[in-house]
Amino acid sequence: MRLGIVGAGWAGLAAAVQAVQNGHQVTVFEAARTPGGRARGLEITLPEGRSVTVDNGQHILIGAYTDALRLMRTVGVDPDTSMQRLPLTLQYPDGQGLRLPDLPVPLDVLAGILRNRAWPLRERLGLLRAALGWKLTGFVCADTLSVAELCAGLGPHVQAELVEPLCVSALNTPAQQASAQVFLRVLHDALFAVRGGSQLLLPRADLGALFPQAAVAWLQAHGATVHSGSRITTLQQDGPGWLLDGQHFDTILLACSSTEAARLATPLNPGWAATAEALHFEAITTVYAWAKDARLAAPMLTLRPDARQPAQFVFDRGQLGGPAGLLAFVLSASRGEREALQAQVLTQAQAQLGLQLQAVQTVVEKRATFACTPGLQRPPRQIAPGLQACGDYIEGPYPATLEGAVRSGLAAAQALTR
Ligand SMILES: Cc1cc2nc3c(=O)[nH]c(=O)nc-3n(C[C@H](O)[C@H](O)[C@H](O)COP(=O)(O)OP(=O)(O)OC[C@H]3O[C@@H](n4cnc5c(N)ncnc54)[C@H](O)[C@@H]3O)c2cc1C
Repeated sequence: MRLGIVGAGWAGLAAAVQAVQNGHQVTVFEAARTPGGRARGLEITLPEGRSVTVDNGQHILIGAYTDALRLMRTVGVDPDTSMQRLPLTLQYPDGQGLRLPDLPVPLDVLAGILRNRAWPLRERLGLLRAALGWKLTGFVCADTLSVAELCAGLGPHVQAELVEPLCVSALNTPAQQASAQVFLRVLHDALFAVRGGSQLLLPRADLGALFPQAAVAWLQAHGATVHSGSRITTLQQDGPGWLLDGQHFDTILLACSSTEAARLATPLNPGWAATAEALHFEAITTVYAWAKDARLAAPMLTLRPDARQPAQFVFDRGQLGGPAGLLAFVLSASRGEREALQAQVLTQAQAQLGLQLQAVQTVVEKRATFACTPGLQRPPRQIAPGLQACGDYIEGPYPATLEGAVRSGLAAAQALTR
């Protein structure tokens, strides 16, 4: 079939690769000049004048991202060399924090929790009891429950040093507003499903090189067409097929943002478009800051955020294949303006890391992810016969993640019909 794909983010590219492998004739339209969508490379200039490619936002992958990792290999990227694999560690600048040893599941979780003496014994035992309870109920809970409600019985150290950082980094939604059901699913797949699922994979290449650019090269080498700088403005029915800005296709995949998909789909399925339009979003801010001798104790450290010191994590890009001295501070579910956030992070770096840094670039992605709230209704994949959508926001068990986007793209490609 002649397949038209709107959007070359990770979902659209995953769908395109799978569709080519399934024998379809694929054309991808991407509005931006570079592929990758919300996970792409970005050029910045260091204070010393050198240009380097970083990311529009620091990303973390985990060992449980099996489909994203498989797809990287398909398009010729080796995850073992392009990312640094670390055991799940939530290490603070003072050296404290949870560290999981390299043991089979669930012994790694058990040992990691029991050995973390910074948490009182009763809190560690309380967490293990709660984890056993979640396992016994199959990691399923009421759809209406928030993460804060699910974890209300856990001790304050566990809440502050495990639940909150995990919740905000995985769901990009504060624990009081985040869906407990999605959180449990992430915990299950990351911590309790397969050995190594919880391992952190920190990119050593920029996000563009990690998948999108290689995917475009692979697609072109396999006969597909990718148009960049090509924003689709109209979608119309054309007999049994479709017209995308006047070009005929047998079947269409909308792999663009939920708002763009809703705009294009409104005349064809207003109910679907209304569900997509009803999603709310959370921002993520990444502050790149630099000092000649800045070096962290580990490639990634957890910080202690509060209202005036908003970063939850900091990454040492120098230890991740980037320029020495360049740090990336991550502010998930961030609120406020760029300048103010940047100034607060520089103060936080001084207070929590003892580093006097110079700001290099601050990227605020206002619509980084959908707000992953309890009972959220997400639009299904199918819009109309021969018209599907894919992306991290489509109905599914995961929050907005690269793996969620990739799996949604693969599912759409496998389900192609006229
Ligand atoms: C700062 C930040 C940090 C993040 N951190 C993590 C993390 O650590 N781990 C993780 O797993 N996930 C993370 N995410 C989430 C992850 O990046 C997204 O879930 C994923 O990239 C979504 O991919 P997608 O293909 O569904 O959508 P998108 O990336 O939004 O792709 C949609 C594409 O469609 C294009 N488009 C839109 N309209 C049109 C049109 N009319 N015509 C043609 N093209 C169009 C857009 O330009 C875009 O390229 C983060 C996101 C951000 C922003």
